Amino acid sequence: MAVPIRTCAGCGRKAPRADFLRFAAVDGELRAVPESRGRGVYTCHRSPCFELALASKSFNRALRTAVRVDPALRDLYTDANG
Ligand SMILES: [Zn+2]
Repeated sequence: MAVPIRTCAGCGRKAPRADFLRFAAVDGELRAVPESRGRGVYTCHRSPCFELALASKSFNRALRTAVRVDPALRDLYTDANG
């Protein structure tokens, strides 16, 4: 079985999906959901990738919808707190 390769929405790194945090749009809001039907978007476990994806509107582009982004999502990134 081939391992599915995903692309980080921030830095563009390609890696197996296990390497990434997965997000999806839930009621117009960006949520961290490991699995869900429909479109997902991925970032590395590094907060700069989240910031980059946010700044470049990669979440909106990947999900093909305008999502609200809760700043608390930054807490998911283990490097964010030092
Ligand atoms: Zn990245």
